[in-house]
Amino acid sequence: MSMPAERIPDSTPAQTGLQPVCRFCYSDLRRTFVDLGASPLCESFLTESECRGPECHYPLHVYVCENCFLVQLEEFVSPEEIFREYAYFSSYSESWLDHARRYVADAIERFRLDGDSLVVELASNDGYLLQYFVDESIPCLGVEPALNVARVAIGKGVPTLVDFFGNLLAQRLADSGRRADLIIANNVLAQVPDLNDFVSGIRILLAPGGTVTAEFPHLQRLIAENQYDTIYHEHFSYFGFGTIERIFSEHGLCVFDVEELPTHGGSLRIYARHEDEVSPQVSPRVSRLKEGEARAGLRDSDRYVEFGRQVESSKRALLRFLIEAADANQSVVGYGAPGKGNTLLNYCGIGPDLLEYTVDRNPHKHGRFLPGSRIPIHPPERIEQTKPDYILILPWNLRDEIVSQLAYTREWGARLVLPIPRLEVIA
Ligand SMILES: [Zn+2]
Repeated sequence: MSMPAERIPDSTPAQTGLQPVCRFCYSDLRRTFVDLGASPLCESFLTESECRGPECHYPLHVYVCENCFLVQLEEFVSPEEIFREYAYFSSYSESWLDHARRYVADAIERFRLDGDSLVVELASNDGYLLQYFVDESIPCLGVEPALNVARVAIGKGVPTLVDFFGNLLAQRLADSGRRADLIIANNVLAQVPDLNDFVSGIRILLAPGGTVTAEFPHLQRLIAENQYDTIYHEHFSYFGFGTIERIFSEHGLCVFDVEELPTHGGSLRIYARHEDEVSPQVSPRVSRLKEGEARAGLRDSDRYVEFGRQVESSKRALLRFLIEAADANQSVVGYGAPGKGNTLLNYCGIGPDLLEYTVDRNPHKHGRFLPGSRIPIHPPERIEQTKPDYILILPWNLRDEIVSQLAYTREWGARLVLPIPRLEVIA
């Protein structure tokens, strides 16, 4: 009896276990930045019946490229899978809307935009930002792959193309005479699997004399403040300023200015133009920031490796606290069900035995369970009913807001706990 010939499946090098390569410079990735084990996609909340079945886990192993210092994850989940139907609507966040409103007012003045200009935003979400250009009668176009959020933008009168951005789409727009005086890319570079295709598309789409602005969480802050829980499968890349400058330069774009922003735990906003133009001149802030990164060790791959040890020690501290509380019969519950909470809980191996439940203000999450850890999510009122001894705040970036929302829990002596940057019990 003969065995059927074995079929060799189509697969990427990552899936066959071959050495992964850098998504920018294609060097082999040999250095681990941090290995957070394996976990499910951080937005895949489970229903009660789903909890009776299995869950797909993907590696969360982060590398640093020793050549260009791009910190990155392998792509295990395609952007089509993640972003075609996206649950995140930017307009739900009041503070993010304020941020967008201020940006638009500044941009109109700084780049002298008017009715003859064209503004293009890549990953324009529900039109949270472009709506303010529409209000000022400045022509704009959003590019957004998630149909459900793009529909909301179109409903608000924000012209939106439902598509993934890259070289091809940029060329199509440029060929039809549409080149942009301002291109905005906020919190999208991390989510792009083919960085070179995306950034070369930006160059093609950018009109002569035009400006690109891009915002992204700053890797220096992620390292310094131990923000390992901001790493998830949907974010393929984590950027230092030196690396982003190199990527843009490779594609003929000069980064001429940079600002540090408080958003998302500490972000950068970069400004770029065509490299062959002479103005605006490069701001002294550019070299200052690069020097700061060099001093922080971002040009030294050994510093990156230390991060892993820092993360492991933070995991042990959190577990020690939870185990001691459990041994002393003290109850600990969570506050919030953000994506970052799932990275943290799954990496630390925390389940309902150590964190009884969590609460969230989003009614769509009530009655569901966190992916991986399967901790139940309740409405915030639950805290008042069960009067826990400790409340672990998972969205630590909203610390002040949440501490004041939870002021009433002092009534029964509850104490608030922050896991990041280091375990802190607020007195
Ligand atoms: Zn590289």
